[in-house]
Amino acid sequence: MLALQGGFAAHLKHLGSVGSPGVEIRTARDLEGLDGVILPGGESTTIGMGLERDDLVAGVKALVGEGTPVLGTCAGMILAGSGQLDLIDIDVRRNAFGRQLASFETDLAMPGLTGPEPFRAIFIRAPWIERVGGDVEVIAEVEGHPVAARSGPVTVLSFHPELSTDDRVHMWFVEACRQARS
Ligand code: GLN
Repeated sequence: MLALQGGFAAHLKHLGSVGSPGVEIRTARDLEGLDGVILPGGESTTIGMGLERDDLVAGVKALVGEGTPVLGTCAGMILAGSGQLDLIDIDVRRNAFGRQLASFETDLAMPGLTGPEPFRAIFIRAPWIERVGGDVEVIAEVEGHPVAARSGPVTVLSFHPELSTDDRVHMWFVEACRQARS
């Protein structure tokens, strides 16, 4: 769990409640032996500066190169698609939903989660995806704009699964990490 800034504590709580406690990533050494990495929401510029300061860019890219699952949520999605990390071939528009829709919730059908119920997704000054590369699969859209996508081991979400009471996204990610390791 990248823990430089933003919503990492809430993610860690969910990881604990699905039986797979996470560790905080603050320096390059913390990346050793991880089964997966979550890039949290928060302020993408601040987190991006922290990635440089703490020399984490090469390490995160190397993990993805080895097939280690990465989940980027909100600011984490912005970073995953940015030239800085370049973990997935997408262009992301920050704060895309604009002033009126700065924060909202909506039900999303999310293939891959257990159960047929939609996921109640919480968006906060959320980005959307403006362009997806050929190897990127769009998982969910809001008003025709992709808000969840996947390419290889990297999954990005515009919303904040750590702010809902529903554990299914974390359950799914932990399972993806388990499978990647075996
Ligand atoms: N708007 C924020 C940014 O650009 C992201 C919002 C969030 O993570 N809740 O960094």
